Amino acid sequence: AEAQELDSQLEAKIMSDENRERVRKEIKKLRTMQPSSAEYTVVRNYVDWVLDLPWGNIKDDTGVNIKEARKILDEDHFGLEKPKERILEYLAVQSLVESMKGPILCFVGPPGVGKTSIAKSIARSMDREFLRLSLGGVRDEAEIRGHRRTYVGAMPGKIIQSLKRVKHNNPVICLDEVDKMSADFRGDPSAALLEVLDPEQNYAFNDHYLDLDYDLSKVFFITTANNLDGIPLPLQDRMEIIRLPGYLENEKVEIAKGFLVPKQLEQHGLKTENIKFSDNAILDIVRYYTRESGVRNMEREIASICRKTAMKVVEENDRDKVVHVTKQGLEKFLGVTKFSYGECESEAQVGVCNGLAWTQLGGEMLLVEVALMPGKGKVEITGKLGDVMQESARAALSYIRARSDLLGLKPDFYKRVDIHIHVPDGATPKDGPSAGITLTTALISALLNIPVRHDLAMTGEITLRGRVLPIGGLREKLLAAHRGLIKTVIIPSENEKNLKDVPKDILKDLEIIPVKTMDEVIDRAL
Ligand code: ATP
Ligand code: MG
Repeated sequence: AEAQELDSQLEAKIMSDENRERVRKEIKKLRTMQPSSAEYTVVRNYVDWVLDLPWGNIKDDTGVNIKEARKILDEDHFGLEKPKERILEYLAVQSLVESMKGPILCFVGPPGVGKTSIAKSIARSMDREFLRLSLGGVRDEAEIRGHRRTYVGAMPGKIIQSLKRVKHNNPVICLDEVDKMSADFRGDPSAALLEVLDPEQNYAFNDHYLDLDYDLSKVFFITTANNLDGIPLPLQDRMEIIRLPGYLENEKVEIAKGFLVPKQLEQHGLKTENIKFSDNAILDIVRYYTRESGVRNMEREIASICRKTAMKVVEENDRDKVVHVTKQGLEKFLGVTKFSYGECESEAQVGVCNGLAWTQLGGEMLLVEVALMPGKGKVEITGKLGDVMQESARAALSYIRARSDLLGLKPDFYKRVDIHIHVPDGATPKDGPSAGITLTTALISALLNIPVRHDLAMTGEITLRGRVLPIGGLREKLLAAHRGLIKTVIIPSENEKNLKDVPKDILKDLEIIPVKTMDEVIDRAL
């Protein structure tokens, strides 16, 4: 009777005759087996897996309504114009063609900028089911493609597993952290993923456990990553990369007011009137309690204020209580400030120069300090600098030695001093070549005993002959400089083209000096 029930479930599924025939055979096997036997359980499990999948059941989105979709996307997220536009284009094309063999979207950006959450709202705007699947730490091909059934405890791979949770075979699946997969002796998961994402192959995806062709071509795959470098090139090739670079201070304030505060109030069972945030309080949360490109920690701090308020409401049994959160009162809610706001030094100093760094968390100011002591030419570099940055420091020194007469230094100056280069704070690892000109400037300043302008910051790689080479992350770096009240920024002239990505509001407050050579840097900085 049980087998009959399974048979009729199978008939109700929309699948190819070939697949159906093979599953039928498995069900037939069940009839001949002892229900209490281990064998029976294995086969029964298999049949259950097959019957739990949505197969050909497609939820038809009758006519895509672009206007409606745009409204939904805007409802969920502030800004993010480019990803939103790209999504609407996708929807438009999709309504014109039967099936779209477009590239897979890949959102790349620092943590908490809304990659996963925009994927979710894409699903909402398309009126599709949404699945999220984290690939972080996946290092075994079988995690994607499943184990063969001969394996004890075999299971389908993550893709098929997740499809069990939806009714329709055209959900939006967000593959998170594609950059955090790794390969080892058990096979390369990215190769399996390639097959999943390739529209030429994925209409007949073969999970090792199912061992049936499964059509993934109607699934809308979206991938997310923090860092492009972690994604194997063949995979990148299939993807359309959309960068979410992080938010400016004023954008964060808007996001908090328009999205995070209402969301957290609701999640904590509070009414809109229960908490009144002043704009300055929100700005101070951004400046003194978080340091991030995204808004996740800010959301956490807001949640923390909501919790405390919820407690007051309950304690005082006053549903209409109004709590005012002001700049001055912030410490009461969140404790002492967590970050000092990266401002520049108040006066020019010898051997100290502002650099700009680009980290996973966005742009940051980076101070380079050089101290000279009488000695024998020893060079010490501290502050947890990576290899590339250490090399930059050596290159800076070689450059200075080669130009010693032009700079007015004795040719053997380096034989009589010990040089100590330090980049605080000492606990944060730093790397990259873009501090080259900063290191050189700090060194020259120390050697010539001339202070460096304190309201000036710089970024650029240096060659041994003093040419200044372009760098990455200009937008984030200029944001950091602006935040740090810097007035003038020296950038490589080859980076001038990137200025178009920098918000106007930021550029109007900064004097940008593009340079080609180290000599120009020295001219402006000392
Ligand atoms: P990770 O790389 O760590 O996975 P993520 O980019 O996926 O980060 P999300 O989890 O999508 O980050 O976003 C964090 C929170 O910030 C979510 O609650 C999200 O709704 C909110 N958020 C991010 N950007 C925006 C925005 N532009 N408007 C409104 N809310 C936003
Ligand atoms: Mg995410």
